[in-house]
This record gives sequence, C-alpha cells and structure tokens, in this order.
Amino acid sequence: MKITRAGMIAFILMAVPAVEAAEGRLSLFFAPWQLTKVWLAAALALVGTLLLLTRRLNARRRFAMMALAFIAFGVLSVLPVNAFRGLGLHPSPMCVIEKPFLFVNAGRAVPILFLSLFAFIGLLTLLSNKSFCGWTCPIGALQELIYKIPLPNRLQRKIPFVVSNSIRSIFFIVFVAVVFTTGFSLYEYVNAFHILHWQWQWQLIIPIGIAIIGGLFIYRPFCYLICPLGLFTWLLEHVSVLRVKLDKEACTDCKLCVKKSPCPTVPAILAMKKSRPDCHACGVCIEVCPEDALKFRV
Ligand code: SF4
Ligand code: SF4
Repeated sequence: MKITRAGMIAFILMAVPAVEAAEGRLSLFFAPWQLTKVWLAAALALVGTLLLLTRRLNARRRFAMMALAFIAFGVLSVLPVNAFRGLGLHPSPMCVIEKPFLFVNAGRAVPILFLSLFAFIGLLTLLSNKSFCGWTCPIGALQELIYKIPLPNRLQRKIPFVVSNSIRSIFFIVFVAVVFTTGFSLYEYVNAFHILHWQWQWQLIIPIGIAIIGGLFIYRPFCYLICPLGLFTWLLEHVSVLRVKLDKEACTDCKLCVKKSPCPTVPAILAMKKSRPDCHACGVCIEVCPEDALKFRV
C-alpha cells in the first residue's frame, strides 16, 4: 500500500520531466543531477540508509557522517578552489522551495534547475525517509554537531511538535502571502544557509540565534521551526518506502528509546500513529532499543 502511494507521488514528481521531455528539454532537467554536489548528496544519503538497514549505525559513525556533510557542503564549497566548485551552495535546499515563488511573482518562468533539485530531494525522501535532510544538509549537520555538545539534561528540551510544526507551517503561509502582495521574502531574515557564506551581516542574527544558540538546547530547531524544505520533506516522509518501524511483539514498552532519542518523534512511532513528527533518520532510537524492536525497513 505504502509503495503504491509512494509510486503515485514519484509519478507526479516525474510528470515534470515528462512535460519537459515533450518540449525536448529532458536533458536540461537531468543535467543538474550530474553536479558533484548532487552525486555527493545521493552518496551520503545512500551510505546513511545502508548503515540504518544493516544496523551498523552508532554515535561515532553518525558524528563522522555529519562532520563530513558539514565540511563538504558548508566549508569546502566556499573555498576558492576549482576542484570544489561543483559543491557550491547555490541554490541552497531552502532556496529550492523559496525562490520559485519569487520567480512566479515576478512573472518569470521557474528555472529548470529548481524543479530538477526539487524532484531529486523528493525522490530521496520517498525512497528513504528524510535521508536528504538527515544525512546531507549542512545546516542540519551543523545543528546535530552542536547538539552533541554536552549540557546538563535539564537544559535540553523537546518542543511539542504541534507547536513547532504550527510555527513552521504558519511561517510558510505568511511567506507566500507576503511574496504575492509585496514581492518580498520573509525567509531572507531567517535563512540559516546564509551562515555558510562565512561573512558577517546583521541578517544573520536570527538564523544564528535559532540554529546555533537554539541548537545547543533543542534538536535541529531550524529544521522543526523554520525550514520550508523540512516542511515539504515531512509531508513526503509519510509515504517513504523505508522508515523507522516498531515490532510491537518485541517491544517491552520500557520507553528507553523515548528517553534517549533527541527528537519528538518516537512516542508517535511507539503508538504506531499514521502521522508523526519529522524523523531525520539519525538511528538513535534503533541503537538504544535493547529488544531490537525498532527497525529501519519497508
Ligand atoms: S526501547 Fe525498544 S523495547 Fe523499549 S519502548 Fe522503545 S521500542 Fe519498546
Ligand atoms: S531518534 Fe528520532 S530522528 Fe532518530 S531515527 Fe529515531 S525517530 Fe528518527
């Protein structure tokens, strides 16, 4: 059933290149998939997925992968070295959602690059949960690394998902309304990807406050509270082929996974709810379960 639904969504996403093909532009649509950064993102997502499927993920490997994603897309990408040009940040994952609205409002066609990257991220999410957000995004990786800085437990909090998702959704709706009335993007004030330009500007105060300062106390606050791509991949992950699933027979309801996991998602997995908060496929809940009751599987 899930595969059928995922297949339908994949079909809808693939309808875009089909239309482009009709116009003889199929090669243009897939050209961005040959960029170094797209291949590397796919490779990181694949390695993460394999580690989860084979139950070989642990905190050390997760840390190494997050450091790799951050260094590749957040540090090497800005160095003036020809070899790293293919890793360039533009368009950032957030811009993939944000900029098309600005183009449409300006009466211009949305560049095919945005549609292509949108489909790429969508396909990764359909196949393997939030493997794009969880294994390749440099701002996601940065927040995850910051959250690992040891603080007293009482200082680290989980925002109720109904609150964080309401903020993220309302922000998106207000963004769309403001774009089409004024042509201005509210995301410019909160875009944490601007941090990766490594140049100080006052517009960085809010993103730094949310992603870096907030990231000390809350797991991936920028993803849960702001990122429009996070909102899109959250919707899509509900029909992902691979996800964290509970083996009800094996579970002893000890709640160790709830206690140890950084996200607000595990209680919904234990309750086997259809709708659940974002899972960034970090593998913590799977690793800590003493009964092997949680698995990343179809
Ligand atoms: S840690 Fe494992 S056994 Fe305990 S509640 Fe979570 S899934 Fe169930
Ligand atoms: S701990 Fe949370 S984010 Fe990590 S795999 Fe489990 S449900 Fe997903």
